[in-house]
Amino acid sequence: MQITFKVYRKDPEKDGKPGRSNYSVELDEEATVLDGLLKIRDEMDDTLAFRASCARGYCGECTMRVNYKACFACTAKVSAFTKKSPEILLDPLRNIPVIKDLVFDWDAFMWNKITAVKPWLEPDESSTNGENLLPDSTMADLRKVMSCYYCGLCDEGCTVLPVDFDFLGPAALTKAYRFVFDPRDKAGRERLKIAEKPKGIWDCVHCFEASEHCPRGIAPTERIISIRDKAFKVGITNEKVARHHTSFAASVKESGWLDEGRLALESEGLTNIKGLMKLLPTAARAMARGKAPIPYLHPKRPGAEQIKKIFEKGEREKK
Ligand code: SF4
Repeated sequence: MQITFKVYRKDPEKDGKPGRSNYSVELDEEATVLDGLLKIRDEMDDTLAFRASCARGYCGECTMRVNYKACFACTAKVSAFTKKSPEILLDPLRNIPVIKDLVFDWDAFMWNKITAVKPWLEPDESSTNGENLLPDSTMADLRKVMSCYYCGLCDEGCTVLPVDFDFLGPAALTKAYRFVFDPRDKAGRERLKIAEKPKGIWDCVHCFEASEHCPRGIAPTERIISIRDKAFKVGITNEKVARHHTSFAASVKESGWLDEGRLALESEGLTNIKGLMKLLPTAARAMARGKAPIPYLHPKRPGAEQIKKIFEKGEREKK
């Protein structure tokens, strides 16, 4: 079949402006996107830059967007993307500094953040006699996390990173989980302190996109939630987060849905005048677009009484 690859191009040594190059390539039915890229580079244009290594879907090196969907080029069959049109668009992952063409800055995207969570075990040697073996049952959960490819697909799917690139992101926080929940590690509290800093666990909006994107079923969003739960349990939280959680729950309990205006005010703290002033520009922008909810004037949703009963049942069971 004849396929046209429309490939994102950017060359910092030329003008550095992004563009696209089109390549018409003859491929067989079983060909992958990586096969197409290798053919282009070998036979048509050796200036095209992309990354690839194992070609088996293990290493995550060839992660890119194919027709706007993030995947591994080496396992993405061309035929799956050309049912409607014989064209394939190739782009680097979103919101990441591009070095050249499809090669992006992995360090800025993921590795620097993984390094920040101290991705090594700090064994508590005082509790062992040289060996530090754990039963299989304890290791099963950690082993699942350790099967991470470091492909970055969870970070690509994350809905926080496009608005805040400094957020640690699901890949790095999943790495933090691996050590936070390892009973041999003695740096647990220090790790939780790192993970709970601004741009860490509390910035996750638990949209579950990271888990949806993970090809290994590691469930990065659930891992972040587990770290948060553990931080709460050992008394590591910050006041703003606690206020946010309390307000969120109170709003849903009272009206069956979220009062966003109230949430913004109560998260900052009703006596925190400086914090409340910071909200004014956002509120003004929302008002200009007709989207400013009036705090505390929040109509109840149908079924609100039922939701309230669920909250009350949960509160009774917790006691
Ligand atoms: S957690 Fe899943 S999606 Fe994220 S880097 Fe690891 S394998 Fe990839």
